[in-house]
Amino acid sequence: MSDDTIFELMAEGGHEQLAFWSEPELGYRGIIAIHDTTMGPALGGTRFWNYDSEHEAIVDALRLSRGMTYKAAVAGLKLGGGKSVIWGDNRTTKDREMIFRAHGRAVESLGGRYITAEDVGTSPDDMEFVAMETKHVSGLAGRSGDPSPVTAYGVYRGIKACAAIEYGNDSLAGRHVAVQGLGHVGYYLCEDLAQEGARLTVTDIDRERVQRVVQAFGAEAVDPEAICDVDADIFAPCALGAVINDDTIDRLQVDIVAGGANNQLAESAVHGRGLHDRGILYAPDYVINAGGLINVYGELKDWSRERSKRKAGEIYSTLLRIFDLAKCERIPTETAATRVAEERLRQARQLQRSYLP
Ligand code: NAD
Repeated sequence: MSDDTIFELMAEGGHEQLAFWSEPELGYRGIIAIHDTTMGPALGGTRFWNYDSEHEAIVDALRLSRGMTYKAAVAGLKLGGGKSVIWGDNRTTKDREMIFRAHGRAVESLGGRYITAEDVGTSPDDMEFVAMETKHVSGLAGRSGDPSPVTAYGVYRGIKACAAIEYGNDSLAGRHVAVQGLGHVGYYLCEDLAQEGARLTVTDIDRERVQRVVQAFGAEAVDPEAICDVDADIFAPCALGAVINDDTIDRLQVDIVAGGANNQLAESAVHGRGLHDRGILYAPDYVINAGGLINVYGELKDWSRERSKRKAGEIYSTLLRIFDLAKCERIPTETAATRVAEERLRQARQLQRSYLP
């Protein structure tokens, strides 16, 4: 474990602020990390997790908040990056109202510099409790609703951008796509792909979900362990993270990896480079799955669902720009995406400075 002090960790990651809030009588321990607010208020979900140590919770909040800055910057949203964690046992906590209202007070104390939403271990119902204490919360029931169709649409558009680069033509008719994970995002993605005439091979650890997709879209099913060996054009990971790892990377028999899952690369630098070296075009996950964030942004801006979807459709041109940079510089697409985000932040900072008296 790193011995760096908090200030060293913040300086290393370029973080603006790290806030702690404690209400021990309720069992609430919250950490809010604000990475960067150059583009706008820091937005990012609340993770409720039983970390092994305080240090681990801090490092996770810092890491995740930084990721949000890059995600929003590449997607062209006027949002910064933040994230919060509640350190505790999500499964045994009985009084969620008290915990999440305490969290709402912590969020409120930052006066709008940070806007929260649901994340791992939290739900729209929890966010209703947060909303009792602050208006700086999104993803509430009855507002923008389930983000998955918008996320899936962005992924679908991103897959088309990949096809345009790889095959010189973005039609997916007759293209063979292997989809891992048929939950919220995976199902809607299969629907979009099937509508365009793609051939689907799918898997999930949940048999009912597999059956649903086989019946609805005429997909072929394979065992979960076999999905990385499918000889297809495109692999679309839509389940958990770290699916591209030391074990799977050499087994892939596809031209393109493009899907909705977060953190697809077990180690960004190593496996991003590995895909690049194998000549597999990789759509960086945080670029192609930004539809979920766009949906939340749309909620904050009172956009219609159609408008959010249109914005998610722009993931197509964003990816083309990233692929172009990667080709010119001969770098992995993951590295190119980071550069695009950093360039956008640099320009925004310059603009801000030019307005200083
Ligand atoms: P979900 O829980 O609805 O679906 C995930 C599916 O993956 C489930 O059906 C699950 O059974 C399946 N799965 C889990 N392990 C598997 C395995 N080893 N092999 C095959 N299938 C497996 O989640 P979701 O909302 O569809 O999100 C999917 C991914 O996309 C996650 O990584 C999530 O973080 C990411 N994501 C989702 C959104 C969104 O709008 N929902 C936005 C951005 C990113």
